[in-house]
This record gives sequence, structure tokens and C-alpha cells, in this order.
Amino acid sequence: MVDPQPPSGRGRATIDEILRPGEAQQRDLRRLPTLIRQAFQLVWQAARRGLVVAAALQLLAALSLAGQLLVMRQLLDTVGGTDQLPDLTTILPELMLFGVLLLVVAVATLAQAEQQRTLGLQVQKYTTAQVIEVATHVDLIDFDRPGFYDRLQRASVNAGIRPMQIASGVIGFIGSITAVVAVGATLVVIEPVVAVLILLGLGPTLYLNRLSTRALHAHTVRQTPNDRRRAYLYSVLTRKEEAQEVRAFDSGGYLRGKHDELFDAKLTDLRATVRQRLQYGTVGAVVAAVITIATLLLLVAFVRSGRLSVSDAVVAVGAVVIVSGRVRALSASTSSLYEGALFLSDFTDFVAVEQARAGAQHTWPRPPEPFERLELEKVAFTYPSRAEPSLSDVSLTLRRGEVIALVGENGSGKTTLTKLLAGLYRPSQGAIRWDGRDLSGYDLAPLREHTTVIFQDFARYFLTAEENVAISRIQEVGDREAVRRAAASAGADAFLSALPGGYDSLLGPSFVGGSDLSLGQWQRVALARAYFRDAPMLILDEPTASLDPRGEYEIFQQVRRLAEGHTVVLVSHRFSSVRAADRILVLEGGRIVEEGAHEELMARGGLYAELFEIQAQGYRGSTSS
Ligand code: ADP
Repeated sequence: MVDPQPPSGRGRATIDEILRPGEAQQRDLRRLPTLIRQAFQLVWQAARRGLVVAAALQLLAALSLAGQLLVMRQLLDTVGGTDQLPDLTTILPELMLFGVLLLVVAVATLAQAEQQRTLGLQVQKYTTAQVIEVATHVDLIDFDRPGFYDRLQRASVNAGIRPMQIASGVIGFIGSITAVVAVGATLVVIEPVVAVLILLGLGPTLYLNRLSTRALHAHTVRQTPNDRRRAYLYSVLTRKEEAQEVRAFDSGGYLRGKHDELFDAKLTDLRATVRQRLQYGTVGAVVAAVITIATLLLLVAFVRSGRLSVSDAVVAVGAVVIVSGRVRALSASTSSLYEGALFLSDFTDFVAVEQARAGAQHTWPRPPEPFERLELEKVAFTYPSRAEPSLSDVSLTLRRGEVIALVGENGSGKTTLTKLLAGLYRPSQGAIRWDGRDLSGYDLAPLREHTTVIFQDFARYFLTAEENVAISRIQEVGDREAVRRAAASAGADAFLSALPGGYDSLLGPSFVGGSDLSLGQWQRVALARAYFRDAPMLILDEPTASLDPRGEYEIFQQVRRLAEGHTVVLVSHRFSSVRAADRILVLEGGRIVEEGAHEELMARGGLYAELFEIQAQGYRGSTSS
């Protein structure tokens, strides 16, 4: 296998480097045509056939509309030539044709309105899929970047609602343009000067619409952090998880007050935005009215001067009414398209981030064998939201088959270190080496593939019991025997088998129709998941925090048995579990301050011995009382 060239520079471009705040908005101002093109492209990618059908329907309706005017002109000419009541038979063909054209326009309009719904949903399906793709593939660390999370939020909300707007904008845009062109062409035939006047009126209307849409977009961008905080507070106030604390501490009023304040701030901002938009809208309406009146005056003047016949003038008035109606519709469609498209730029930028980042990644073929040595060399790690590093100058070597334990007080960096070992974060400084190969700048997927990890804040999937275990190696989901073995090792088989539907039972709170488990039972399910993955390296971050002492004892016996041939990294506050590890690393303030086996560390009389003594005294105290 050819080894790819090691990438130059460290790591990948960060989201914030790729997208600077406000940049998307600035670009929008110069990018209206591009945005509209993007909107069309999006609908094209999501629903090719739907778009073709919509365009065909619109074209048919527009041609029928122009046809109506021409038939009307013919009718008026026929009738206007005589002083007597016209013979019905002479005008019957025109009347029938007019009726057919009316029907075509009506049916096409109806079909378009209905088709808009399915088209919108197709576009929504497509955009949602893209957001999910990005959200599941960006580095874990991106979720700690506030800028990224805001964009994800905007893109998610937009992927949900904007597609409808874009689909209706695209259809309306095609409909209005085809109608304006077809009826406008008729008008050019009848009286070109009037057509030019109407064309001139288009500019200011579209410009004002653009200003109005931009104001709304700016409001939404400004309010995204507010929306996020408010949504969070709302969930705290309404979720089962927090309900008991909200009552026990009587904190509902305080939290509610904060929530309402945020709502009021948003409302104030929205009011100012709406006022601004109303001003633009009013100016637009005045411009449109002035142009229509001017056009009518011109027509009257032309009739009086004999330049136009009365029947031509009547048809021209009809055309002016249709065209100005369609121009209004066009500006509404452009507005909704522009609005959708501005939001679309958030969406396309967001999706582009992943592509740009994927390009910056260097894939390293998954090594067939587990590592013999995984080394961290002078590793430092700083969370994006913090100035101080959470890990500094960490050097350690993990050998295959070794059981190491990480101990230290809260906040000493244990969890952060496990996330680096699991390939979820990459170091801010220093290097991770897999059998001597520096992984800087490479995609860390191979490291993740060789690792199974259970976190302190493990996930509870509201899926079946079997899926909850097998999701760590989902391609094996049908292997019931293996699922049961993993569950049995974690002490979960007994209670999962006893569920009403056994392993096919849905787990989760009763409000989603599932069987809820106790915290300790959920923890065993999470452990079963880790065992089921059966990767060469097993990382357990406080795997027994929710278990009783007997459960904890059993689990550690089990871990030792399963550890045969596996590399195990164990984080625990319980020294009884830790002391059997081959090596214990003691962390303090993000640094490794002591390292060795239990006896060595005790003999040394440092931090480990001190923490061990505190816990032992606690036990002695409780047994003697
Ligand atoms: P431990 O597992 O030993 O309790 P952690 O690794 O969780 O320690 O945390 C180490 C330090 O990093 C702490 O100061 C903590 O506040 C900080 N930290 C942990 N997670 C994050 C995060 N997502 N964003 C910012 N700081 C964090």
C-alpha cells in the first residue's frame, strides 16, 4: 500500500477559518443572481421531474393568458365593426376558444399550487439529508465552537422551512416571468411605449424588495444566539430530566424570567425590522401605483390622438392589469426566492465547509492490525471556548494489551485525554503516534475504528434493546447471540430478556412508547454496547458511576476477563477498581504528575497516596459507624 505524503502544516482548517462571521451576508449583497441560480439548482437537484412539469405548466398558463388577450381583441374588433347586436354564430368560435383558454389557465394554476407542496417536501428531504451529513461528519470539537453551532442551528431550521419557500419562489418566478413575457409581447404588438413604461417600473420594485428581505435576514442572523439560549431554557422548563430540580429548588420563576426576557428582546428587534420592511413596502406600492396611473393616462392620450383604436386600448388596459399583477407576483416570488436564497447561502456555506474540510483531510488506510504502541508526545489540548489548555505536556505510551487507569480530581483532564486517545479530538500541540507514525493532519477514523469507548454521559437511544447494544457495530445487528453475549457480560441480559418484547422492546421513556430503564440499567446497556463492538482498545470513562458496589465489582471482574489481548484505559474515582491496573496515571491541572503501579505510587506518598487515603478513610469511617 502506498503511504500518502504526510500533509504539510498541522491539522485541518477550522470552521472559523473557512467561514468568518458576517462573510456570508456581505457576499449576498453582490450575489443575487448567483443566489437565484443556486435556488434553481437546488430544486433541480432535489426534484428534476417536478421542476420540468412545473415549468411546462407555467408556460402553458402564460401562453393561454396571452392567447386570451388576442382572442378578446379579435372579439372586440368583430363586435365594434357593426352598430347592431352581433350574430352569436359569428363570435361563437372566439367565445369557445376564450372559454378553453380560461379553463387551461385555471387548471394550470390549480395544478401548480398543489405541485408546489410535493416539490417543497422533496427539496426539504434533500436539504435535511445534507445538513445531517455535515452534522455527523464534522469533528467533535466543532460542536464546542459557538460559531459552528449557530450555523448548524440556522442551517437546520432553514433546511426545515426554507425549501417550501424556495420551491414556491421558483415556481412563482417561472410563472410570473413567462406571463410577463407572453403578455408583455402582446402589449409590444399593440403599443410598445406602454410596454417600455411597465418595464421601467420593475427596477425600483425589485430593488425595494431586496432591501426588505435583507432586513429580515439580518434580524434572523442577529437573533440566532438568542433563539438558542431561549430554546435551551424552554427545554429545561419542560423536560422530564430537569422537572424534579426545577420543583425542588423552585427555580422555575427565575428561569422563566430569563426565557421571557429573551423573547422580549427578540420581539423588540422584530418590531424594528417590521417597521423598516413596512417602509420599503409602502414606497414600493407608491411607485407601482404611480406607474399604473401614468400608463393609463398615456393610453387615454393615445386614443384621443387616434394612435390607438378603442378596442386596442381596452385590450392594452387588460394587458396592463395582468402585467402589473404579475409583476407584483414576480416581486413577491423574487422576494420569497431571495429570502429563501439568502438563507440558502447559510445552508450552502455550511455544507461547503464539510467539503472544504474533507479536501483538507488526508486519509490513512486503516491498519489491519491493532497498534503495538500508541504514543502521545508532549500533547497539549485547548477547548475553543477556553483560554487555558485542558491538557499540557502530556507524554505517555500505551502498549497493546496493557490496562492503564487515569485518576485525578474533577477537571484534571481525564475525560479530555480519553477523547484524544479515542481519536475524537486532535491535539492542539504535540503528536499522537501509532507504531511510530505521526497522525497529525490525518483523518483519525482508523484510530476510532480500533477503539470502543463508553462515556460518562453515554447515549440512551430510544430504539429497540437489540439496537441499543448493536449500534456500536451496526452491521452485525441481526446477530442475536452476539448481542446477548455482550449484554450478559455487562449484566444486562437478565433485565433485557425480561422486557415484554425481549430484545425487540423499544427502550426509552414511556411518552415515546418505550420501556424506561433505571440509570444503572442504562449504564449496563452502554457497557454491553462497548463489549459488542469488540475493538482492540477499550476506553471506559467512569463505567460504573451509576452502579451499586456489587454491580461495580462484577463489572471490573468482567473487564479484567475481557481485557485479555485488549488495551484498556479506565477512568474511575474508585480506587478499589483502579489499583489492579498495570499502570496508573495521576492527572492534576491537565498534566501527568505521577505514574506507576499502585504499590509504587503508595510508597511514593504523593497525590495518589493522598487521594487513596481520603477514600479509604471514608470507607473506614462508614464501616466503623
Ligand atoms: P475530568 O474528566 O478530569 O473531570 P475534563 O477532561 O472533563 O476533566 O476537563 C478538563 C478541563 O477542561 C476542565 O477544566 C473542564 O472545565 C474543561 N472542559 C471540559 N470539557 C470542555 C468543553 N467541552 N469546553 C470547554 N472546556 C471544557
